[in-house]
Amino acid sequence: MMDKTIFQKIIDKEMPSTVIYEDELCIAIEDIAPAAPIHILLISKTLISKISDSRKEHQYLLGHLLLKVGDISRQLGIEDSFNVIINNGKKAGMTVPHLHIHIMSGKKFSFTS
Ligand code: 5GP
Repeated sequence: MMDKTIFQKIIDKEMPSTVIYEDELCIAIEDIAPAAPIHILLISKTLISKISDSRKEHQYLLGHLLLKVGDISRQLGIEDSFNVIINNGKKAGMTVPHLHIHIMSGKKFSFTS
């Protein structure tokens, strides 16, 4: 059996984290090494290693995650100013192979105008 990812351990409450939202499909936590003043990770509870591994059967989950991005942005009062990043694969900087969405606010990134 594959070793649990760090995020699986967080989901299973075997590792501590600051949880800001949780439901049956996902959990949102503060990033341990924030790259912006607000940096949240919205993590799928279903283990999909990366977004390019997702399939039709994940359609509801993926829609749910994006809806939660909006909900969480309103919860944090950043709904008018945040960036969403999904790293896909080691070469693209992905370090934890467990689907998650970065929600970041309060920093200007070089790829924005
Ligand atoms: P990736 O590079 O895979 O897209 O993003 C992984 C993110 O997880 C990084 O921003 C990193 O700081 C964060 N991270 C890694 N380990 C932990 C941890 O144990 N707890 C929390 N809260 N975040 C973590």
